[in-house]
Amino acid sequence: MGGKMMHKQLNVSSLVAHAARYHGATEVVSVETDGSTTRTNWAGIDAKARQLASGLDKLGVTDGARLGTLAWNNRRHLEIYFGGAGSGRVTHTINPRLTPEQMTYIINDAADEVLFFDATFTPMVAKLKPHLGSVHHFVLMGPPDAAAAEAIEGLLFYDDLTDGGDPDYVWPEIDETRASGLCYTSGTTGNPKGVEYTHRSTILHTLGANTVDGLALSATDTLLPVVPMFHANAWGVPYAAAAVGARVVLPGPDLSGPHLVKLIDEERVTMSLGVPTIWMMLLDALKETGSKAASMTRTLVGGSALPPSMIPEFRDNFGVDLVHAWGMTETSPLGSLNQLLQKHSDMTEAEKEVIRRGQGRPPWGVELRIVDENGEVLPEDGEAQGELHIRGHWIIDTYYGKGEDALTDDGWFDTGDVASIDADGYLIIRDRSKDIIKSGGEWISTVELENIAIAHPGIANAAAIAAMHEKWAERPVVIAVPVPGQAPSEEELIAFYNEKVAGWQMPDKIIFVDELPVGATGKVQKNKLREAYGDVLMAPAG
Ligand code: AMP
Repeated sequence: MGGKMMHKQLNVSSLVAHAARYHGATEVVSVETDGSTTRTNWAGIDAKARQLASGLDKLGVTDGARLGTLAWNNRRHLEIYFGGAGSGRVTHTINPRLTPEQMTYIINDAADEVLFFDATFTPMVAKLKPHLGSVHHFVLMGPPDAAAAEAIEGLLFYDDLTDGGDPDYVWPEIDETRASGLCYTSGTTGNPKGVEYTHRSTILHTLGANTVDGLALSATDTLLPVVPMFHANAWGVPYAAAAVGARVVLPGPDLSGPHLVKLIDEERVTMSLGVPTIWMMLLDALKETGSKAASMTRTLVGGSALPPSMIPEFRDNFGVDLVHAWGMTETSPLGSLNQLLQKHSDMTEAEKEVIRRGQGRPPWGVELRIVDENGEVLPEDGEAQGELHIRGHWIIDTYYGKGEDALTDDGWFDTGDVASIDADGYLIIRDRSKDIIKSGGEWISTVELENIAIAHPGIANAAAIAAMHEKWAERPVVIAVPVPGQAPSEEELIAFYNEKVAGWQMPDKIIFVDELPVGATGKVQKNKLREAYGDVLMAPAG
């Protein structure tokens, strides 16, 4: 007879239960929506999550119900992550920066049974309520509040709901293939689509992220997740932090540079995560305040391309290692992460930096490939560019409610990104396939053109777009935001591209603007720029 190992379902509740049992006294600091600070710990988060689960049972919320959240990064949101999924429900994080129409669409599409929301969103929820037919319970994430109760009929209060629940609620064992979380894509084209995570995919993602060459999170860290908990699960760190028992600082609604500097210094943050725009603001605030962010050792950046100057700026001025990562809502999100290999040890900082600008390599659990327009797999030589495909344990199979298979015939997910992969498996994202400029059949990377513009001392930010062109179909136009007080000329900036790109890749035109349109997850909205400037190279009509 063969032997046998125990078989236990991979359940999200096991993460918070572990954190409570083995890191119970480790602090979770939460900046609340009213600006006050709460200090609890992992034992407290687990107890409240159990009380929430029990409170939802008492309310009659069904097994498998979707629980919508419109919330900042705070401790109640963390409790809903675990209390929802842990009790067999599905935590559905909603991006509050979307338009009211998009939010209504998403809540109806998900058929959320409960909607949890922070006080910031009370007026908006009051307005949306008549359109949210599936929602039986509206829950304000805080103590009872008479004015809010007035605004929303039948309103429940999170603190009542949890206080009335049982802190000894026993986490049920849940089939690991059942859903634990739901998050919608940002939907820049068409309606947003739901991506449903399972207990199993979430646990495997956590294990994949929690390696030394991954997030390298540990029980000795103080983690500041600046990336919102509604943006692809805050990149999985609520789960990853529980698994290792890291100390966590949840920043609340104020993500301004000065507030983040204050939190980093006062709470002695060692690691943080966020999109490049946030780090640009942080760098400005560090300069203004004179803070050296002395406790910080590293920060993970992803979500959009990294301005190349950011790595040396963090390294040389603050001793902070910047780790570049790539992912999507559909990929839980970790798809690749940039760490060096043993063979790179003897390289100079400058040589290492060239590698580290890219998006890095896949962790165990996922695989990448690039293909051409006929679906032929392309060589991984750092040169060939093609559509990036991914497959693995935490990658989407089917969009929520659509029954729509998201995969290619041979089982890969087409990311919609255009990339190269080198012989060591290092990924470089060249563009979104819908953003890349197709000039006379050749491709021009908007990311590359933007990086050059941003390297000009007079330019603060830039976006390159494909503008329609009579002869070449599309040609590059750069929309640039000058540094305040500076006014570089168009000729000067175009000349700045000389020798940096081939002649045919030079922008045809530079348009100066005061700011770039930014979407709900902090990314520049190139579709808006194409609408505004896509025809600037065409002869005027008539
Ligand atoms: P979302 O699902 O909203 O997180 O968007 C995912 C998309 O963001 C990807 O398909 C990429 O186009 C882009 N993205 C994410 N991380 C990076 C990165 N490190 N560099 C460049 N683009 C990125």
